[in-house]
Amino acid sequence: MIEHSLQAIARALANREISSVELTQHYLDRIDRHNPRLNAYLSVDAASSLAQASAADAQLAKGEGGPLTGIPIAHKDIFCAKGWLTTCGSRMLSNFVSPYDAAVISRFKAAGAVMLGKTNMDEFAMGSSNETSFYGPVNNPWDTSRVPGGSSGGSAAAVAARLTPAATGTDTGGSIRQPAALCNLTGLKPTYGVVSRYGMIAFASSLDQAGPLGRSAADCATLLNVMAGFDERDSTSLDRTPEDYSRELAVTTNAKPLAGLRIGLPEQFFGEGCSPEVMQLVESAITEYRKLGAETVTISLPSMTLSVAAYYVIAPAEASSNLARFDGVRYGYRAPEYQDLNELYCRSRAQGFGAEVKRRILIGTYVLSHGYYDAYYLQAQRIRRLIANDFTRAFQQCDVIVGPTSPSTAFKLGEKASDPVQMYLSDIYTIAVNLAGLPGISIPCGFAGGLPAGLQLIGDYFTEARLLNVAHRYQQANPWHLQRPTSFDD
Ligand code: GLN
Repeated sequence: MIEHSLQAIARALANREISSVELTQHYLDRIDRHNPRLNAYLSVDAASSLAQASAADAQLAKGEGGPLTGIPIAHKDIFCAKGWLTTCGSRMLSNFVSPYDAAVISRFKAAGAVMLGKTNMDEFAMGSSNETSFYGPVNNPWDTSRVPGGSSGGSAAAVAARLTPAATGTDTGGSIRQPAALCNLTGLKPTYGVVSRYGMIAFASSLDQAGPLGRSAADCATLLNVMAGFDERDSTSLDRTPEDYSRELAVTTNAKPLAGLRIGLPEQFFGEGCSPEVMQLVESAITEYRKLGAETVTISLPSMTLSVAAYYVIAPAEASSNLARFDGVRYGYRAPEYQDLNELYCRSRAQGFGAEVKRRILIGTYVLSHGYYDAYYLQAQRIRRLIANDFTRAFQQCDVIVGPTSPSTAFKLGEKASDPVQMYLSDIYTIAVNLAGLPGISIPCGFAGGLPAGLQLIGDYFTEARLLNVAHRYQQANPWHLQRPTSFDD
């Protein structure tokens, strides 16, 4: 069962080959057995999950289920879930039990999915290795001395070790795609505004977007069908006609299912910065795409080289504003001792936030302050516009843009933890996509030294269905995504 696609699980549930309670219990047992080695889950509530599972069974017995009814799904601990501890990886929210559900959580509930648990993450989603979590790092199931990527590292490790069939993540600068790459998963960051941010703890509001982490493009399409949709409670949610993201995935006997597809290869993705072993796998994936009928064209995204610099002005600026709400007064962590209100604020924030979060708040406050705003924040916004324009131009020459997701395979725990700039460079290929608000997906494209590597596909706005199809055709011909780490089989 742990190797079944979501569609196959749904079939088994519908045919009553297995019940949702049995399936949920099976995953809860696996979590019990294997989570201590991974630290992927922050909270599990067996009673609550099993109650949802038995409600799903009742629905299935009436023949009423949908594609996710009764299927356990893990959620990144950034999503508020009613009655669940929702920590966002921070001490600041270590005592916060959410009184309401995020839009993403309600949509999964409405679809009959079972909430399996909340997954570990970098504190407030700031990081690329899951090492900034107050609850300790997550270990990569492919090699537990290495990072799973971040910030959705817990979700990625949980799916990779088969401690859940699928999970949710969020991506502000790469946090779905990079852990997908480092854990041999498929991870999709949708077009900004496609998935509601209501109840998703804000890091950088103009960049944050939720998306699925699954084993295949087909699974991600099923998940996105549930996650996407207009929500009037999020002012940046887009009111669009609902679409079926799996509509292009039908079985085909065509040997060249991607004939006519123009793949753009940005020169900036193929210069320096990527490790040779990852680059070699990316090059072979491109060769496979040519076999499937795609043509390739060289394109240029000249401003992309400035994306990390612009991001580390814009994201901290927004974070400093978003995180101002954590003041020790209304909810969250409060310092045990203080003399007056000012000391309450200062001590609660000093003790409640970790080093990386403080660094971002300081940078963000600085770039927004009088006298520096024009020099940093406005400049960064201008660069953001140039980056978006680069993509618009590029999509006149090609349909999808392809390159590496991450410049390296999973690195060792601790290897980059003391060097923020090295850590920030983990996202050189992913950040521009968030700055432009575009959709991007990472898919497994092979192994180097036993560690998985990811191929990134970037599409124009609202082309998720096509991206998923382009990913799916590759996965049918090159099933790297079916490989799993073997040490979690028992
Ligand atoms: N690694 C990037 C950062 O630290 C992106 C994180 C994310 O996408 N949430 O900001």
